[in-house]
Amino acid sequence: MRYAIHEVRMTDHLPPRIYLSTPHLGELERRLVGDAFATNWVAPLGPHVDGFEAEFADVVGTPHAVALSSGTAALHLGLILVGVGPGDEVLVSDLTFSASVNPIVYLGARPILVDSEPGSWTLDPDLLGRFLARRAAAGRVPKALILVHLYGQSADIDPILDLCERYGVALIEDAAEAVGTTYRDQSPGTFGTIGAYSFNGNKIITTSGGGMLVSPDRRLAERARKLATQAREEAPHYEHTEIGYNYRMSNVLAAIGRGQLRVLDDRIARRRANFAYYESTLGELPGIGFMPEAPWGRHTRWLTCITVDPAAFGADREAVRLALEDRNIEARPVWKPMHLQPVFQGAECVGGSVGEELFERGLCLPSGSNLTRDDLERVVEAVQEVAFSGVAAVR
Ligand SMILES: *Cc1c(COP(=O)(O)O)cnc(C)c1O
Repeated sequence: MRYAIHEVRMTDHLPPRIYLSTPHLGELERRLVGDAFATNWVAPLGPHVDGFEAEFADVVGTPHAVALSSGTAALHLGLILVGVGPGDEVLVSDLTFSASVNPIVYLGARPILVDSEPGSWTLDPDLLGRFLARRAAAGRVPKALILVHLYGQSADIDPILDLCERYGVALIEDAAEAVGTTYRDQSPGTFGTIGAYSFNGNKIITTSGGGMLVSPDRRLAERARKLATQAREEAPHYEHTEIGYNYRMSNVLAAIGRGQLRVLDDRIARRRANFAYYESTLGELPGIGFMPEAPWGRHTRWLTCITVDPAAFGADREAVRLALEDRNIEARPVWKPMHLQPVFQGAECVGGSVGEELFERGLCLPSGSNLTRDDLERVVEAVQEVAFSGVAAVR
């Protein structure tokens, strides 16, 4: 009880909390979920799952989509589908969320972490090219690459796809943060052998939790569907010839996803408008930079990420984050690179200094599509106050 009283006191004087990125649902989603209830289709699978798969396939431009319980499940199955097993090596972007790397370890394979390039913050194709040339000369080419599209921005897919084809590396795209993103007018996730998307609660559209696996290859998609359904064989009884998983999406959540898909363009427009507002108000402050939008496509600005140069700004990223927290505003450092994570100590890394600096200086600002103008103004005022306070807070 003392804890509860303490909590009340802590938040009593504070304005309502502004979060980094929250679900943004509407009436359409409520109606579709109502339909799932009314028709008693609340079990896993059902007509909304089929509909969501077909509509999602249409939106991203892929022939085959399989709705799953999470983006992580899509990556896990993707690795199995391209034949990754114990002892194999898998390349993966270093600057990412741990869910990009965990499924490699589930399979007893070893991650090799590849650094970003500063122009897009995504995987550096030159660094990858030099590494693969060295490994090919030694006769040790990794089996697959998990390429991460970061914060709503596509990686530079063309040169990376060329390298994968030249060296025989299977390309799995982690497009969890890139629903609605484009690369040369095409959706990232549809270039490789497998693409994985996420509808987790903090993503640009959500089913509360969920994911999608896409592939240009019908056989791979069918195999994903089977593995995700406990690897049941076609038989009236329960027949199994391999190990499966319980990874399919429920019909209720697919109903939410269908509604969310129809407002995707609006959600992108709103997140991009958040970015434009932050850029126009904070862009003139000395020492504040923004994640660049690469020339090859549309950045959805799922999250607006700034960089803080402490020498020019007079305070560091952490001082800005704490100033926001003091005003009950959630902001988070850019992903801590995987090679700095205790759990991945010992993993081979290719470069790493670019990601380290982005982590040191980078901050993700509140970016939800449901933020109000007042919310955005509160964020901006808080950052401006740090800039103008003259209190040097450099650690
Ligand atoms: C969110 C995320 C995932 C995992 O998706 P879930 O649906 O939460 O399992 C994987 N990779 C990246 C880069 C993500 O941001």
